[in-house]
Amino acid sequence: MRVTQENKTPSQSRPMQDLPPDAYAVLRRTFGYDDFLPLQAEAVHNVLNGQDCLVVLPTGGGKSLCYQLPALLLDGPTVVVSPLISLMQDQVSQLRGNGVAAAFLNSTLTFHAQAQVLQALRAGELRLLYVAPETLLRPEVLLALEESNLACLAIDEAHCISAWGHDFRPEYRQLAPLRSRFPAAVCIALTATATQRVREDILASLGMDKGALLVGNFDRPNLNLAAAVRADDLSQTLAFLRGHEKQAGIVYCSTRKTVNSLAARLQEEGFAALPYHAGLDAPVRQRNQEAWVRDDAAVMVATVAFGMGIDKSNVRFIVHYNLPQSLESYYQEIGRAGRDGLPADCLLLYTTQDLGSVRYHINNGAESERQGRELRLQAMYRYAKTPYCRRSVVLPYFGGEFQPPCGNCDNCAAEEAGRKRIDVTVDAQKFLSCVARTNQRFGISHNVKILRGSREKKVLQWGHDKLSTYGIGLDRSTGHWKELAQRLIIQDILIQDPTHGTLQLTDRAWAVMKGEERVEIIQQAVPVSKQTPLADSDMDLFEILRDLRKSLADEAVVPAYIIFSDRSLAEMAAHFPQTEEQLLAMHGVGEAKLAAYGQAFLTAIQAYCADTGKAWRPPSKSAPSAAGPTPRLGASLHKRRFEEVGELFAEGQTVEEIAAQYDVKRQTIVNHLAKYVNAGGVLQAERLQAESRLNAAAQARVMQAFDELGSQALSPVYEALNGEIEYDELHLLRLVRVCQE
Ligand code: ADP
Ligand code: ZN
Repeated sequence: MRVTQENKTPSQSRPMQDLPPDAYAVLRRTFGYDDFLPLQAEAVHNVLNGQDCLVVLPTGGGKSLCYQLPALLLDGPTVVVSPLISLMQDQVSQLRGNGVAAAFLNSTLTFHAQAQVLQALRAGELRLLYVAPETLLRPEVLLALEESNLACLAIDEAHCISAWGHDFRPEYRQLAPLRSRFPAAVCIALTATATQRVREDILASLGMDKGALLVGNFDRPNLNLAAAVRADDLSQTLAFLRGHEKQAGIVYCSTRKTVNSLAARLQEEGFAALPYHAGLDAPVRQRNQEAWVRDDAAVMVATVAFGMGIDKSNVRFIVHYNLPQSLESYYQEIGRAGRDGLPADCLLLYTTQDLGSVRYHINNGAESERQGRELRLQAMYRYAKTPYCRRSVVLPYFGGEFQPPCGNCDNCAAEEAGRKRIDVTVDAQKFLSCVARTNQRFGISHNVKILRGSREKKVLQWGHDKLSTYGIGLDRSTGHWKELAQRLIIQDILIQDPTHGTLQLTDRAWAVMKGEERVEIIQQAVPVSKQTPLADSDMDLFEILRDLRKSLADEAVVPAYIIFSDRSLAEMAAHFPQTEEQLLAMHGVGEAKLAAYGQAFLTAIQAYCADTGKAWRPPSKSAPSAAGPTPRLGASLHKRRFEEVGELFAEGQTVEEIAAQYDVKRQTIVNHLAKYVNAGGVLQAERLQAESRLNAAAQARVMQAFDELGSQALSPVYEALNGEIEYDELHLLRLVRVCQE
């Protein structure tokens, strides 16, 4: 997906690292991250420069940072409009955990508490204020904002403003006129919505032009994607869950009834599973949710009512026990897994009956929505049954491009392993003949009963015990025949009536019966978890740190991930930091977390190292920067863009060639090269210098300015050269200098 830079202003010199050094410092010190995720730098740049924007990133793509980081640098508070009360509270706790002055205002607060928050706002004590839209529109809130020099208005879940969206909220409509009341405040809207129409609607409602649109990459490379036809028994689900023991995850079901029965079955099987759906009493729901969020229960069995606004970063798996209604909702639901960037597994189980039941609901729903919903369902079903790389189906659906293989889906894995094809022609012929003999008037179950020689009343009543196919399938289980029938439907050999479930034969079915066509199925494999979150983590230490986190969390009565994410623990367990400085180099460890928990974690790690003889293991390449070593986060997961770019340049490609290849600006590539060098990569200074567009005299002036003023901050150099040399060039030449040293 490439929309980003292209859609912005045409100016050539809009480098994203125009970000002030402060932005990187805040990223590191407050949030504990050492790099921006895709599009975050652009969004932060826009906000800091007073340019409105609409940020479209998938769930888990890191939208919050796009306004949270600028909020710490802007000259006035940021107001975040959010429709979800639980999410608001969660974000405020996380921000406070990072030492940021944040608060929220919504209907759950007492009058007195609200007054206090408004007082703090007026007094300039808050950097971020989260508000529900209806609260924001209250006169006293607006007045307090007017007195507070509002710097930024962030509108989260911005699709709520559009009547075309799936979650239209009329209060959101009133946010648009509100903007004129705060003309000085920059506006950033955020959403994960897929459709073009909704995106355009948001822009229009907020009075932003097309250039304000920043669309991110919807790929979540750390999610393993898999789908399989659901077997009649629980075997697949159990095998999958056993592979994820002690990990947190969600099993989504389409009905409350399935939630109840599946949760009970899983409990019988010894899993710490809990049910969640809108039919349970509010206190029970609340209790179950809290238990899960706090890692007291691992498996949440739930309807889609669960998950909105829950920001748990260490969800390791999502199972869909039924076919979802659309790829939009599916992608949003699996987006709850692996927010910490570590591997997570997403398994979709489905049957053709699922398809029928969703259709049934669609046909019983509003006429005006029928067509749209049917199309969304078909896209979902195509995804479920595709034999091709799943990312090559889902990413184009969200408007992106993708070149398979992704290497992290079941179909890619099967391709790599050499798919095992099983010839089932003979069984298929038996089944299809049975459908033919019963005049295509019955469904799967009845045909299976005939094949298995059932004495059931309905079979005998119809005289089906007299058919030549009666009892010819006794050698195979009922489950086998049912699954085969599903496969025949999926391969379009049989058609199933959406309402009555009766089976019809297609031309291909006749060809199979005549022996003209063979039927093969591809053996399915249920994904097995990767127990180690980061391949090189010490799992014993990881467990110790996890227990420590749990007890600290219980003490503070907060969810564990508010303390540290799994990814932070995994890095600690891979690098064994011994000092505060080393601990700070771990993902998610900022200064506030260091102050609060640093000592406890360092003590535990030091004790472990004393017992086992382990010692500080610096991340593979260390950066020469003042920030200390930069861990190569997620290096074991996938190669990051700057590494790819650095390697391409090192292999002899020019900046221009690489820029063309990624369809980005020259400046973006220079930025990646700087990161590459910063992370310990080596580049030839001469080749970089040859990329400069300045003549030798101008280059010499720049180098001299670096000598006099240093090159840490570029703006003094820019000023000293009277603004005659573009930042692009300064960045490039600074890199040349670093590489000469
Ligand atoms: P969204 O709102 O888009 O669903 P969030 O803002 O909740 O996503 O962020 C998703 C996850 O990504 C969170 O666990 C957050 O800690 C993590 N994250 C955000 N920004 C960064 C970053 N720059 N580096 C590493 N992790 C990040
Ligand atoms: Zn794939």
